[in-house]
Amino acid sequence: MVERARFAPSPTGPLHIGGVRTALFNYLIAKRSGGSFILRIEDTDSKRTVAGAENHIKDTLKWLGLNIDEGPIKQSERKGLYKKSVEELLKKGLAYYAFDSSAELESARKESKGEFKYNYETRMNMVNSFTVSEEETKSRVERGGYVIRMVIPEKETIRVADEIRGSLNFNSNEIEDKVIMKSDGMPTYHFANVVDDHDMRITSVVRGEEWLSSLPSHVTLYNHFGWSPPKFYHLPLILKSTGQGKLSKRDAEEQGHPVFAVQWEESKGFKESGYTPEGILNYLALLGWKGKGDREKYSLDELVKEFDSKDINKSGARFDIRKAEWINHLHLKDFSSKKILSLSEQAKILLEKKYSNEVSEQIIDLIKERLNNLFDVEKEVFVFVSQPKNYDQEAVEKITRNTIYNILNFCKLKEELLSEPLLLKESLMSFGSENKISFGNIMKTLRLCIVGRLSGPDLFKIIDIIGPEETLQRIESLINKI
Ligand code: GLU
Repeated sequence: MVERARFAPSPTGPLHIGGVRTALFNYLIAKRSGGSFILRIEDTDSKRTVAGAENHIKDTLKWLGLNIDEGPIKQSERKGLYKKSVEELLKKGLAYYAFDSSAELESARKESKGEFKYNYETRMNMVNSFTVSEEETKSRVERGGYVIRMVIPEKETIRVADEIRGSLNFNSNEIEDKVIMKSDGMPTYHFANVVDDHDMRITSVVRGEEWLSSLPSHVTLYNHFGWSPPKFYHLPLILKSTGQGKLSKRDAEEQGHPVFAVQWEESKGFKESGYTPEGILNYLALLGWKGKGDREKYSLDELVKEFDSKDINKSGARFDIRKAEWINHLHLKDFSSKKILSLSEQAKILLEKKYSNEVSEQIIDLIKERLNNLFDVEKEVFVFVSQPKNYDQEAVEKITRNTIYNILNFCKLKEELLSEPLLLKESLMSFGSENKISFGNIMKTLRLCIVGRLSGPDLFKIIDIIGPEETLQRIESLINKI
C-alpha cells in the first residue's frame, strides 16, 4: 500500500527529539512504501501558539534532511472545511450546541464532587440544543459564545486498533462528549485532526503514545462521519536516561545533553553540539525500533529500506546520550575527509595555514577513528599544527627522566632519520635493545614529546606529516623541560 503519513506538530513550543522521532517514523513508513511525507501544522489554538515554533519545526526537518512532499498545511487556514464538517454532524444529531456558562459547568462539577462528565448521563440536564427549543437554539447561536460537542454513544464498546499495541476496547460510558468547536469558532485538536486526516487521505497516523487515550473519541468521529479510519501507530515514550518518566528538557539539562535537534533560544541543539544529522536520525530510529541482528549503523536510505513497523517496540525507550555519541561516531568515521573538513570550519582554518588540501585530507584520514562529534576534529588536528602545550605529567613520572633524555637525545643525534620515520622506528628499536630500554617506553616517550599525552593517531605518521624540523623542535622542547 502506498502510504500517506503526516507529521502534525502543534507550534506550541520548540520541536524536541521526541517529536523528531515521531517525524522520522512517519517519514520511514511513508517512504518505505514509496508514499508521501506530509507536514501539517496544528495551530488551531492561537493562545498556545509560540512565536518561532513553526520555523523551529521546519528548520529541524530541513537540517535532518526529512524532506516533506506536501505542506506545510496549516489548520488555521482551513476553517471553512471544519465548519462544513461540523454542520454535517449537527444535521445528523451527532453533535450539538452547548450553551452552558462556565458558572453552570462549575456548579455541575461541584455537585458531582469532581466526577462530572458531560455525557449521555448528564447532557439532558444541561443547557444545549438537545434541551432547549429550536427557536432558542437559533437565537443563542446568533448571540455566539457557545461550543459544539460531539455525541459519544451510551453503553458501547469502542473497538480501536493500534498497529503497535493490537486491538483495544474502550467503554463509551467513560468518555466525555468532547468539545469539537470552541467558542472562538475554531475546531479543537480532536476534530481538526480527524477531519484533516480524512481530507488529506492519510493512511497511517503515527504519533506519540500520549494520544492513545484520545483514540476512542477519534474513532467515534470516523464512525459518525461514516469514514473508514487510517492505521494508527502510537509510539512508545522516550524515557529519561535514569529513573522513571518521560525525557524532559530539564532532565536533559541536568544530564548535560541537548533535547532539541537544532538550537532553541539559549538551548543548544544536537546540531550545535557537534552531532551530524545522519547520527541523530540513526540514533532516534533505534529509540523504539530494532532492525535485524545487532546492526547499529544505518543511513536514512538504509532505514527506509529496512524499517519494518512490525518491529516497533511497545515499551518505552530509554534515552542514552553515550549511545547517541557512539552512533554519531560510526557515521563520522565513515565520512570522506573532504566532508569532515567541510563540516568543521575551525579545523579547516587551522590546517589551511600549514598544509595543502591533500595533506589536510590525509590528516583527517588519520584521526577519523577518533571522532565522536565534530568538535573533536579541531581537537584532534591540533597535534598537527602546534607543539604540545603541556605534557601528561603522570606519564612523564612513570618513565625516568634519564630514560626520556637518552631516547630524545638519540633522536636528536639521528636527525637525518627524522625525515624517514620508518627508519627512525627501526633504529629506535635497536637502540632500545642495546640499552635495555623497552620499546614501550621508547614509544611513550616519543608520543609524549610529539603529542603531549599517551593517546593519539599513529605516531610515525604524525612525524611524517609534521616533518623533521617541527619534530626536532618538539624534541628540544621536551629536553628543555626535563
Ligand atoms: N498536534 C498533535 C501533537 O502536537 C498531533 C498529534 C497527532 O499526530 O495526531 O502532538
